[in-house]
Amino acid sequence: MFLTISTTGIPERPATDLGFLLHKHPGKAQAFSTSHGTAHVFYPEASAERCTAALLLEVDPVALVRRGQGQGKGKGRGGAPDAALAQYVNDRPYAASSLLAVALSAVFGSALNGRCTARPDLPEQVRPLRVEIPVLPARGGAELVRRLFGPLGWAGVEVTAVPLDERFPEWGDSRYVRLVLEGELKLSDALRQLYVLLPVLDDAKHYWVALDEVDKLLRAGDGWLAAHPDHELITSRYLARQGHLTRDAMDRLELVRLAEADGREVEEVDNAVDEDRDTEEKPVPLAVQRREAILAALRAAGAARVLDLGCGQGQLVQALLKDVSFTEIVGVDVSVRALGFAAKRLRLDRLGERQSERVRLLQGSLAYTDKRLAGYDAAVLSEVIEHLDLPRLPALEYAVFGAARPRTVLVTTPNVEYNVRWESLPAGHVRHGDHRFEWTRAEFRAWAAEVARRHGYAVAFVPVGDDDPEVGPPTQMAVFTQTGPTATTTATTTETPKEGEAA
Ligand code: SAH
Repeated sequence: MFLTISTTGIPERPATDLGFLLHKHPGKAQAFSTSHGTAHVFYPEASAERCTAALLLEVDPVALVRRGQGQGKGKGRGGAPDAALAQYVNDRPYAASSLLAVALSAVFGSALNGRCTARPDLPEQVRPLRVEIPVLPARGGAELVRRLFGPLGWAGVEVTAVPLDERFPEWGDSRYVRLVLEGELKLSDALRQLYVLLPVLDDAKHYWVALDEVDKLLRAGDGWLAAHPDHELITSRYLARQGHLTRDAMDRLELVRLAEADGREVEEVDNAVDEDRDTEEKPVPLAVQRREAILAALRAAGAARVLDLGCGQGQLVQALLKDVSFTEIVGVDVSVRALGFAAKRLRLDRLGERQSERVRLLQGSLAYTDKRLAGYDAAVLSEVIEHLDLPRLPALEYAVFGAARPRTVLVTTPNVEYNVRWESLPAGHVRHGDHRFEWTRAEFRAWAAEVARRHGYAVAFVPVGDDDPEVGPPTQMAVFTQTGPTATTTATTTETPKEGEAA
């Protein structure tokens, strides 16, 4: 089992920094004993221009089978008859697999976690990386390998099927591929992807999946798994198809996604999920700053009856409940799953009578007018509009500003200009996989001004979060205040006057 990681360098950033990053000296060949055999780390090349680290895992196949771990789940535990042969003929010593993933985390643990005491600046660096795995077991074939690594920021994902026997091409391909990944990534991101995806592709996890596997998966998947189009397949295979664990993980990934309206919130969720992980002092998460800004604006508007439109998992509803000046709070979301989380968070089933009279959760889509939403003091759309396809946005505008017509409407959305300040965000990417668009300050202002004009509102803008002199704040908020009566007599694109009706 063999894997190489290479990087190239420039004089200010020599390639041999890889040695610091991996905590393994490029001049030495080292051996580490791991639970499945001996892991060797050595550098076939190490110059300022180019440096390659190799990880070779020498597995003892017989010992592995004797320990009941040779051929993945099922085998070895109950002694299936074909396990007899598997003791002596199995691919574990040759193919990169879950064992290599375990060795990766054992030998390159600090690198995987993005720590480097000697050079704390290094783990944050995005470097040119090349990862090669000559023999990778890939259940699902080359296509699945491409699908899994494709969305993860690599410029090149080269997958070549390995023939069963080179002398007899007519025998077709084996279930192994050669994988070469090339691109500019943080080393820790690359290692965390491999740590999860190698066993996923192997699909024969060698050890009994324990409860903390879910934690390990979420930690290693932080920042990429929740938004991965194949997160369900990855989760299910990683957890060896243990239904209850997969569901647990899926629920938690959903939490991550729901709260992940921007880069910061992942940390917040992570902390909730795994409280004791990190006790360092952290800046106030953007999600918290946003809620504070929204609460302040609602108080300033004197709102008592409030709609939280696209309430997600109900954090804002919860904060509103804590302030008695909000007498009626209605959370609305299209996602039943999100509302389920919100209900749990709010402990709706256990609220006292007075509290439960103040709060309600409604399922509904903001793309349609909804009589239940009429007549409120204020409505909040916090990080919601960017989840709608642009062509659907006029329908939401009409449903909120034309039909429901609360006195005050607060709309927050990411300021795309700020994205260059998120270190973890590759250039040109939106903050969240489900964002259909992200606007500049000018685009948001133009949209808001037009909505205000059409529907009889005045609009002001409030920065949320660190207001960068150059690129502005991470979150932009528009505060709409109704100025006139219904302005819907001015026909908009979403409403065609019915025949016979005066336009
Ligand atoms: N307001 C929350 C959640 C933002 S995530 C917060 O600030 O954290 C966006 C939410 O909008 C999701 O919960 C999603 O389900 C919801 N949403 C997206 N499109 C919607 C629609 N058409 N109608 C109602 N809710 C919608």
